[in-house]
Amino acid sequence: MEEDAVWQSVLGEIELTVSRGNFVTWFKNTQVLRRDNSSMIIGVPNIFYKQQLESKFKPMIMELLAKNGLGEISLEFKTHTSTMPTKRPTNDDTEVVILSESPKKTNREMFSGNGAPSLTHSYRQGLNDRYTFDSFIVGSGNEMAYAACQAIAQNPGTKYNPLFIYGGVGLGKTHLIQAVGNAVLANKKGSKVVYATSEQFVQEFLDAIRYKKITDFAGHYRNADVLIVDDMQFIAGKEKTQEEFFHTFNALHQANKQIIISSDKPPKSIPTLEERLRSRFEWGMIVDIGAPDFETRCAILQNKATQHNIVLDQPVVEFLANQVQTNIRELEGALNQLLAFCEMRNLTPDLSVVTGLFGTHRSRPRHMNAKQVVERTAKHFQISIEEILSPKRDKDIVFPRQIAMYLLRSELHLSFPKIAQELGRKDHTTAIHSVEKIEKELHFDNILKEHVKEIKEKLYA
Ligand code: ADP
Ligand code: MG
Repeated sequence: MEEDAVWQSVLGEIELTVSRGNFVTWFKNTQVLRRDNSSMIIGVPNIFYKQQLESKFKPMIMELLAKNGLGEISLEFKTHTSTMPTKRPTNDDTEVVILSESPKKTNREMFSGNGAPSLTHSYRQGLNDRYTFDSFIVGSGNEMAYAACQAIAQNPGTKYNPLFIYGGVGLGKTHLIQAVGNAVLANKKGSKVVYATSEQFVQEFLDAIRYKKITDFAGHYRNADVLIVDDMQFIAGKEKTQEEFFHTFNALHQANKQIIISSDKPPKSIPTLEERLRSRFEWGMIVDIGAPDFETRCAILQNKATQHNIVLDQPVVEFLANQVQTNIRELEGALNQLLAFCEMRNLTPDLSVVTGLFGTHRSRPRHMNAKQVVERTAKHFQISIEEILSPKRDKDIVFPRQIAMYLLRSELHLSFPKIAQELGRKDHTTAIHSVEKIEKELHFDNILKEHVKEIKEKLYA
């Protein structure tokens, strides 16, 4: 069967979730044998794979399928000769070709079932070569993070060390920090770039203790020219690992090696992060990555469609960009869902197909912008725009201002520096503080809840 867009998207996510070894072992030789509206059959090399995938990975796969719009589907694994491994990776540290990606296919090839199935991801030290600066679309939510990453890629270890990037899920943190790794490797052959999620770091550390391989473990990380640790929040509460990471950090930092960290929140908001680590994370540069604006979402969609050799009509792009507003992974998911749907039915992805598939419901009017949120909030509290934007610290102005900041975050997912800017503040910590305060108080303050609800109702009316 022809390469399956949904399965490719599922594999892409699995790749980022499981360890590299697991991915190579269990998913490298899978392929979709059949898929229709109600079932999906994945071909695997032998019965052992079938058992392992069923017992260990099925729930995860089902969840990812649901995320890609196939929640109701039944999933089966079947042994199939064409999935027999052809080449086994010999050494874990060498380049491993996981799937082979042919040059981009034409629209027809992709939808017709001709042509060899093949997608290549080669891995170096945990990096996925799909994640490059070239394939990253820059917009207002991520330009700061992008600029910092570019600067680092050119001169690792010199400025912005460590770089700490934080932001919500699916906003491109992994993409961007891996792009640095890929660029460093491209600029300077032989550089040692080590990428790991903090969970991997924890697991490897525990294994190292268990198998008495601490020296190897420490050596692996401390010899890096660039160390990238993704999703640092998962190290919270793991004291021994934090201690080990602290030493790794110091060794690298002293040797002017670059450290890049990502997390879903800023260092000061990660609970049970050891103080000394927190303060080290604050040594360098901390940047926030925010949700993409409408134009960026459109550009991302058009870009991803082009990768499938499909040019989407602008109305289709705009429709999708309105459907999914805050998570780029979901945005990609929606696009993949659309392409898969069209592939199965041999349709052109036009506006009628896309509205049929996703409905006409829009979660947020396209043109709701920061200014409207601020104005609406000021109006609700019967203060003027000038007042809400002024430096005044009177209680009856500070409160609406904090709510406006909260709404800019919750509804428009703006980055903190952007929120500060929208309210005429220089310092983004004020924005963080305000948003957190309102979030907290919403749990118990019913009057506040009422205010927020009313403002939102007006905004969405
Ligand atoms: P995070 O690590 O913040 O959860 P990811 O880096 O995994 O997010 O991004 C989710 C998906 O969205 C990835 O497939 C990534 O390639 C894509 N993506 C995110 N931001 C961009 C962007 N600015 N341009 C193009 N693709 C993006
Ligand atoms: Mg990530």
